Order: sequence, then structure tokens, then C-alpha cells
Amino acid sequence: MTAINSLALIALKCAPNVFDLSSDMTHASIRDQVVRARLLARDLAQLPKPPQSVLVVGAGFAGVSVAMALAAQKIKVLVVEVNRQPFQLQSKVSDRYVAPFMYEWPSHNADDQSYPPAGAPAWSDDSILAGLWDAPAIATLKQAGRDRGAWRKRWKRLHGVRSHGPYPAEPPHWDEWFVRELRGQVPLPAKELARRARARLLEHLAAIPPTSAQLKILTRVDADAIKRFVGAFAKQMGSWYQSMSSPPIPGSYRPWQHLRVATGVDWLTSQPEHNVPCDVDAVILGGGAGPERVELDAYPFKFDAVGPAAGLSFWDNDGWLGASADDHVGVFGAGDGALQDALRALTGHKHPLMTIHAIRRDPRARAALTAVEPELAAIDRQNWLAASWTQVSEEKGKPRFHRGVLDEVLDQRCRAIACRLSEQPGINQAVADILLAGTGVVYHVFQENYFTKSYLLNRFLLHLIDVCQPPGGRLAGKIRYSSMPDMAEIRGYARSVVSARQGYQRADYRIWLKRRYSLSYFSVPMHRVAVRYGRLHPDSQPGHQLLGLSSEKIAERTCLGGVPYPHVAEPMP
Ligand SMILES: Cc1cc2nc3c(=O)[nH]c(=O)nc-3n(C[C@H](O)[C@H](O)[C@H](O)COP(=O)(O)OP(=O)(O)OC[C@H]3O[C@@H](n4cnc5c(N)ncnc54)[C@H](O)[C@@H]3O)c2cc1C
Repeated sequence: MTAINSLALIALKCAPNVFDLSSDMTHASIRDQVVRARLLARDLAQLPKPPQSVLVVGAGFAGVSVAMALAAQKIKVLVVEVNRQPFQLQSKVSDRYVAPFMYEWPSHNADDQSYPPAGAPAWSDDSILAGLWDAPAIATLKQAGRDRGAWRKRWKRLHGVRSHGPYPAEPPHWDEWFVRELRGQVPLPAKELARRARARLLEHLAAIPPTSAQLKILTRVDADAIKRFVGAFAKQMGSWYQSMSSPPIPGSYRPWQHLRVATGVDWLTSQPEHNVPCDVDAVILGGGAGPERVELDAYPFKFDAVGPAAGLSFWDNDGWLGASADDHVGVFGAGDGALQDALRALTGHKHPLMTIHAIRRDPRARAALTAVEPELAAIDRQNWLAASWTQVSEEKGKPRFHRGVLDEVLDQRCRAIACRLSEQPGINQAVADILLAGTGVVYHVFQENYFTKSYLLNRFLLHLIDVCQPPGGRLAGKIRYSSMPDMAEIRGYARSVVSARQGYQRADYRIWLKRRYSLSYFSVPMHRVAVRYGRLHPDSQPGHQLLGLSSEKIAERTCLGGVPYPHVAEPMP
């Protein structure tokens, strides 16, 4: 079989032997990052002269995955991380839930909460994710435990166990069966996923003989020291390449390939280390997307302001799942994070997969949904193609398809399906049933007039909720979704001290909005806000900071990015 070299497709090559798995990534879930990282490792190991020693910057899912896969190919790897432990980003949040295939909806395995998927015996996977979803989370067990009686009845019915005998020859043990059945019921809280990933990584590191020292993870490393080394390495590697037309032979190290980390902590042994020596053939950046922008622009006339209108980062505990449905909630942004938050505020569900399941519980709604799923799947395929192919809007005066145009077209199609579906019997009631009972409103405010980069499930659910509500009103007794697109100006401030007493960040916010083509602002009072504007600034991404990368040049740095996406075909029936 011919191995296709996919280096250029999966990682941004920023300099000779310097790859960036993280910068400018949109539409990349944890699982996507793990897959990309493993493909990069595979391709590096298959080079005619593979690197012998690699520095990986960042111990998130991408960094750890590429490191494990390279070490498995007998390539020496040093991972340097600024935080105190790997997977730090997901380690704080217990009310965000992660499922391995959630973004594949409506494909048949979107529901599978096991990795590798339960029904795919031929799929061998030794990645950091393998087996992490296998046991239900404690929270899931506790929740199901409250309903233990019903589960026990099901166990008895399924296995012919009667209360007063006779028992079947070998009934499966009740406790084991209970835990096994719950596997795959609910996605894992992000914090639990990170904890399990760390446990798996520790096992992996402990199994490496100390003499081979194939993979080492240093935490609490000084960010400036990393930056200095990576910058110098990329620059020197570039000049070497220019003069010699090839990189140095792996293993024959120049002085600028000697890394000395001033201080760090060996994560396996918890021992501090000083002046760790390392000779490096290649550098892989897995520093993530950098800090998020979570604050609205300030309103100029804020006489009664005590602070900004600011929410929390996506991977922080916001307490929204238990929050009041009588609140006025503001969700800002048209991307996936915003859509997820709007859905959480409307349904109180841990995860959009649970929302779609709840709708499907009604037999008429299930039949209607099943009928439109092939059309939705076709839209999803278009969406994925658009995500990877369309970066360029205009080149040398020739207008080309812009990503936004495609997003808009796909979004309109998705909404049209939701509209058709809302006319089917049973759908309106099923949607009413998933909404929280309350007098609250979820204001979803964004600049565009369509949802931008979002996965299909979230996009579809919000459109469905929107079209099922009476125009300008709410479904009886239920929290209301109020979509506010086309806002040219979105500003705000807090008028009272932010309080976390109710378990979530709550304040008296005053939000000022100006519609496109309008001259005046109008204001909306809100109690809770989530600002999902993506990264703080392109230059705040670790990859940009380490190497001074520019987003402007992204089309030149990727293969597919430079190829315009020609047409949007009609979705297949
Ligand atoms: C709003 C939003 C919603 C999302 N929702 C989901 C979701 O529901 N499900 C899902 O699967 N994914 C989701 N994602 C994507 C997910 O967060 C990423 O795919 C994943 O975290 C990327 O992993 P990573 O290893 O590339 O980066 P990160 O997880 O960010 O890890 C980067 C690591 O590098 C370290 N680091 C940074 N700079 C340096 C430096 N200079 N030197 C050394 N170390 C450094 C950091 O401390 C961190 O440990 C979402 C992302 C966003 C922004």
C-alpha cells in the first residue's frame, strides 16, 4: 500500500523541521487534534531520514499524542509545558462534557461514547484517548443510582431473573452489568477526561525503561526559555536550509540544536531538573489556540458601571447547568462555543447529544427526524469540505469563494430543513419538552446573519428551537430563545458586583446593541453572559508568539488552504 504523505495537510509547516499543530485551527475537536498529531508522527517517522530527537512544545492532547506516537517509533522526545500538568486546559471544568464522536452527528456512530468505537473491532488504537470513555463517570453512576430500582428491573427482565427464583444458571453479576450498561450512556466531564488521560499517560511513561529515556515530559518550564530556543532553532534551520538545500543530517547536531531548559519538573518523578540537555532535529508546536476573548467592548457612556461585561473561558466551570431558567442570559458570537452555551442555557442538558435524544423519544418526532437525516448528513459533508478547502477570499484581484459565503449557504439549508421539520406532527411538542420551564430569555447576539463555524448538531438544534417558537414569543411556560443577528455594535458593562453565590457568575449587566444600518443603540438588561469571540488576538496564539507567524500567510503555508473551493453542490438526497 502506498503511504500518502500528509504532512502538509495536517500540520502547518512554519520553517524547515518546525511544525505547528495548533495555530489557526478552527473546527478541531480534541479527537481531531489527536488524529492530526498521530498522522504527523507517522509521516515524520516515514521520512527517508527521520528525526532522531524532537522537541514538543505544549502538553495538551495534540502535544502528548504526537510525543507518544514518535516515542513508539523509537524517536526521542522531550515535551516542555509551561503549566504544572498535562491537559491543563480541560482540568478545571466538570460541567462541560466531551464525547468522542459528537461532531459526527447525524452519522450512525455520533452516539458512541467509547473510543475506539464499540462496534469497530478492526480499529486498533493505542492513542491517549483509547479506553478513556470505557467506564461511566462517577457523576453518571450517581445519577443512575438514584434510579437504581428501574435499572434492576431491567436487569431482571433481560436475564429472566425472578425475585423468588428459580434463577437462570448464570445470571450476569448485577453490579458489573449495571456499570457495563452505563458505559456509553453519557459523555465524560472534561475534568474527568483529563484526569483519565493523565493516569493513562503516567502508566505509559512508567512502562518506558529509565535507560532508554525515550519520552520525557517537563512541566513548569519557563515560557521565555522555550521561546528563545524555538525562535533561534527556526531561524538557524531556515538559513541552513537556504545555504545547503537540505536540513542537517539527523543526529549530527549543530550548536543551535542543543537545547538547555533552565528549570523544569520531571512530571513522572516530580523532581525538579536544571539545565536539561537535549539535541533537537525537529520542533513541533502544540501550544493550543491561546487565550480566549471573553469580554464585550466597553460602552462609552457608562456612568453606573462597576466592571466589564465578561464571561468565563469555555473550559471554565460556569455553573450554568444548574442555573435559573428565569434569568436573562446573553450569549455572544455565532460560532460553536456560543451555540453550545445557548443550548445549555435553554435545555440544562449536559450535552447536545442528550437534547437530540430527548427529542427522539417522541415516536413521531423520531420518524420525522430520521427522514431528514440523509439531507443533514449531506450538508455536514459540505461543511467539512468547506472547513478545509476555503481559506482564500481574494487573490490578485480575482474574487474567490469566501468561507463566510459557504457558511451562510449551508446555514440557510440547515434552517430550511428545520422549518420543514417544524411542520411535522409531534415536533413542536418534542421541542417544547426539551426547553426548561421558566420566564427567562436566552439572547443570542452576533454580528453575522448566519451561524458561522459550527458543528451541525448545535446549528440544527438551535434553528429547530427558533422555528418552533411562535414569532417573537415563547412556547407556553418555557424559556425563550431570542436570536439577534446582524448587530454591528455589541457593547456592555456590569452595573453591580459580580456574584458567584448562586454557583455561577451572575451580575446586573447592561448590554448596548446597534443594528446594522441603524444610528442608535438600544439596551437589554442581562443576568449572565458568555462571550464566545474565539481567540483574544491572532498574535496571542502560542505559535504566533513563538515564531512570529502571521495569519495573513496561512494560505501559503498549507496546501489545501491555497485551493479555492469551487462550488456548493446541492445536497445529495
Ligand atoms: C470555544 C471552544 C469550544 C470547544 N469545544 C470543544 C468540544 O466541545 N469538544 C472538543 O473535543 N473540543 C472542543 N474544543 C477544542 C479543544 O479545546 C481543542 O481541540 C483542544 O484543546 C486542542 O488541544 P491542543 O493540545 O492542540 O491545545 P491545548 O489543549 O490548548 O493545549 C496546549 C498546551 O500547550 C501549553 N502551552 C501553551 N503555550 C506554551 C508555550 N509557549 N510553551 C509551552 N507550553 C505551552 C498549554 O499550557 C497547554 O497545556 C473547543 C475549543 C474552543 C476554543
